[in-house]
Amino acid sequence: MRNRSPWIHQLDKDRAHQRLSGDITTDVVIVGAGIAGIATAFFALKYTTQTVSLVEAYKLAHGASGHNAGQVATYFEKGFANMVKDFGLHEAASAQAAINNAWELINEMYRDAGLDIFFNQELGHDGYSTYEQVVGALEEARLKRQGGLDPEHMGIAVNAPFLDDIPPQYVGLYRAIPHATVLEMLETKNPVFLAVSSLKKGSINSALFCEKIVGYLLGAYPERFALYEHTPVHKIILSPDGAVLDADRHVVLAKHVVLCTNGFENFHIINENGLELDTKFHYSVRGRVAYMSAYLEPADNPPIATSYETPEEPSDYIPYYYLTRRPYEFEEGMVHNLISIGGPEEPFADNTYSQEVEYPERAIEVLNRFVHEIYAPEKEGRVDYEFTWHGLMGYTQNGMRMIGPEPQNPVLLYNLGCNGVGILPSVFGGRQITRHLAGEKVPPSAFDVPKRLTLPPL
Ligand SMILES: Cc1cc2nc3c(=O)[nH]c(=O)nc-3n(C[C@H](O)[C@H](O)[C@H](O)COP(=O)(O)OP(=O)(O)OC[C@H]3O[C@@H](n4cnc5c(N)ncnc54)[C@H](O)[C@@H]3O)c2cc1C
Repeated sequence: MRNRSPWIHQLDKDRAHQRLSGDITTDVVIVGAGIAGIATAFFALKYTTQTVSLVEAYKLAHGASGHNAGQVATYFEKGFANMVKDFGLHEAASAQAAINNAWELINEMYRDAGLDIFFNQELGHDGYSTYEQVVGALEEARLKRQGGLDPEHMGIAVNAPFLDDIPPQYVGLYRAIPHATVLEMLETKNPVFLAVSSLKKGSINSALFCEKIVGYLLGAYPERFALYEHTPVHKIILSPDGAVLDADRHVVLAKHVVLCTNGFENFHIINENGLELDTKFHYSVRGRVAYMSAYLEPADNPPIATSYETPEEPSDYIPYYYLTRRPYEFEEGMVHNLISIGGPEEPFADNTYSQEVEYPERAIEVLNRFVHEIYAPEKEGRVDYEFTWHGLMGYTQNGMRMIGPEPQNPVLLYNLGCNGVGILPSVFGGRQITRHLAGEKVPPSAFDVPKRLTLPPL
């Protein structure tokens, strides 16, 4: 099976792609045209007067932004409790509040560009099946409440065997509800799920969103914005007052470079006046490949965005399952519901990831089991997937997106590191980078680029 994403399927196949055809000078060069690069361009154009060139190795939104689950969500995969351990309650709460507020930023992009593509914003539901999972989620909620944030609300089944054992510090963060309600909210008949928590979630085709936003930017800022696709950046040479980029066969001169590359790919960073950044950078982001599948059904149910922790999970291969159901125009004028499901993921050792790699049978087996046991037990045999796709996730060492200037040379800035959930953090990162570009004094945050990184033992 090949890597075939439903999000890329909806892009405009006739769009012309312009590559860099000569040397250029620009105020800001953004490397990588996924949602991070495009959000950064959007806010830099809106809130500064600088010229912006967006340079993409292949085609816009064909990286993780075209191969994800498209759930718009505010949670951090490393968990709020771990953030509190690493950064303290105050800084963790500020980081969470920043991502919560990114809903307003993504809506600002959507509104300014006059979009009408599908983007729902409703309550999403997360299902739990064990005491440990429930108490882990309640602890997250307790810390959020202590940090002045609105916690998720949890319902625990009245017949959950652990209901009376929930420690008293979690009073007020959950209520007992009929088991049938838990299952109804999760749209499953599988009785292993004993609790559900709800928070605002949405779903969007983030690739289509990128394509539409770029179309808007090209029209709104013809003098200040350009997009160059099929233009890989091989080398970035930094000096105290600017950068030179070796981009395909040409040279880009810029006052600032913003790396929105998800973390990888084949470039080198040379810092003329400072310590070696290259090794540090390439060691600072590690890759995981995640696998998803989707099938079509009649459009007779409303959209949902859910996740499920089963009694067997989490494992390294399946941390949890996630599902969206949404209206989907498969062929022009034909709207179905698209059921898209993810869960399996695994590390890859070096820069060997390729989008061309076959979709593994093992992932299909896992996702089939999910469909049969949890979401649609009425389906028999092998599920007839219309789409099977995989994508790359970049994990930073501290599990937080890296947003801001490189401490050794602020000519270089980063908005990268997907860490599992990256749509809203990319958009927040775009707005935050613009503050740096505008010369504002930006308070320190948990997203700052770490000054020191632990390098691997020799
Ligand atoms: C299977 C999967 C499911 C996911 N589900 C969700 C989800 O439900 N919700 C959520 O919020 N997040 C999710 N994510 C994460 C989310 O998709 C990413 O965090 C987000 O799309 C990252 O956007 P980005 O712009 O940083 O990276 P990308 O979209 O990967 O863009 C980086 C771009 O940089 C380009 N590039 C790299 N190197 C160079 C170079 N040298 N020169 C020029 N260009 C270069 C690449 O070609 C690419 O286009 C998921 C990710 C995966 C893989």
